[in-house]
Amino acid sequence: MPEWEAVIGLEIHTQLKTRTKMFCSCEAGFGGEPNTRTCPVCLAFPGALPVPNETAVEWTIKLGHALNCRVAEHAVFHRKNYFYPDNPKGYQISQYDEPLCIEGSFVVPGPDGDSEVRIVRAHLEEDAAKTIHVGGATGRIVGSAHSNVDFNRGGTPLVEIVTQPDLRSAEQAKRFLQLLRQTIVELGVSDAEMEKGTLRADANISVREVGEAGYRTRTELKNMNSFNHIARGIDAEIRRQIETWESGGEVVQETLDYEVKSDTVTPRRRKEEADDYLYFPEPDLVPLKPPADLVERLRTEVPELPGARIRRFEKEYELPYYDAEVLNGSAALAALYEQVALEGIDAKAASNVLMNDFVATGVDPAAVDGAELAKLIAARATIPRESFTRALIESGDPDFRAETYLGDTLVADTAELEPLVERVLADNPGQVAAYKGGKDGLLGFFVGQVMKETQGKADPKVVNELLRAKLA
Ligand SMILES: [Zn+2]
Repeated sequence: MPEWEAVIGLEIHTQLKTRTKMFCSCEAGFGGEPNTRTCPVCLAFPGALPVPNETAVEWTIKLGHALNCRVAEHAVFHRKNYFYPDNPKGYQISQYDEPLCIEGSFVVPGPDGDSEVRIVRAHLEEDAAKTIHVGGATGRIVGSAHSNVDFNRGGTPLVEIVTQPDLRSAEQAKRFLQLLRQTIVELGVSDAEMEKGTLRADANISVREVGEAGYRTRTELKNMNSFNHIARGIDAEIRRQIETWESGGEVVQETLDYEVKSDTVTPRRRKEEADDYLYFPEPDLVPLKPPADLVERLRTEVPELPGARIRRFEKEYELPYYDAEVLNGSAALAALYEQVALEGIDAKAASNVLMNDFVATGVDPAAVDGAELAKLIAARATIPRESFTRALIESGDPDFRAETYLGDTLVADTAELEPLVERVLADNPGQVAAYKGGKDGLLGFFVGQVMKETQGKADPKVVNELLRAKLA
């Protein structure tokens, strides 16, 4: 049996969160009564003229910098012609052979080194309106009674990012998308929420035998609305293609939908070639010529990005890769970690508390005073577990002070604990006999009983020592 490898490229669409739409002054953004955010431009009345959104152009350049792209000195809007109810003009204003950002790369750090994904382009276009199929079981057009169109979304600025087919597994594609999403969010140009459709990803997938040159026929997988579905959908399509080739069949170029329930892919329609769209330059818009000083200024506005920050955390705080990745799950969590680490407490201990106990509380890291949290973490060994957890839950309150909890110390006094330990042993003669007979694991049971007696306030280290001594 040959060994197969997957070849995956991604096309990502992200809606920019500008105040207004791409070519008119209608309010952009999720929500609103259907068809209340429209005007003659985005409804395509005859004679209405588009005016480009300057902020959208600047944010696309910023995103281009984050993707290490070259920003074109001359970029052109094209009309991409197709007929569909969500597209009142009969064409979408997009970019074709002269996009705004080209030839970039995006580095995804991992435990075993970096993987670099080349970026073909990042271009600016307008989103289509939203079609809602009513009366069917699946929300798809098949089986629906009728379809409504909400033009609120029509004309929202959209950046399309296209990668080279550099990804080799579903897991790698998922990790790439997660880091890209976080990068976009931290740039502040989009909320990039898959469940709201402000981030969407399609995958181009083919397989080949390991060592084979060139690419085989690829398919396009659409309609995946979470990172997990993307990974599962890609895996399902890789399986299907390998089975097809191995059984002597041929993979045909087509667009597929991933069905979550059955974990299978189903064909949608034959893929249009680029020519089908009859691209031609938009005659109502002049080419974009971003001035060099603007491009440079926008470059300086790009903050440290999560991929680079993960590597810095590994180095600067000597953290394992896993810790660095989890702490960089959001800019706010990473910033809180740095504030805590600055207070001079053990970097790994601080990481453990933040990654495990703190994240579990659901408290917004941006609301927490790092210096106060550091005091609490430094005293962790002397505070009862329960008080410590309560303190973490309250750490986001504006008047949170670690001192409140520092007095809540563990009972480490042997004179106080000894009678308790003795009582627990006297109350459980069966377990004592079993322990002495070789069931070492019962030590935990005795510790648990003592902790229960003291409402968790006994120092577990001292309790352990006392028990060992008494049971010897
Ligand atoms: Zn409008």
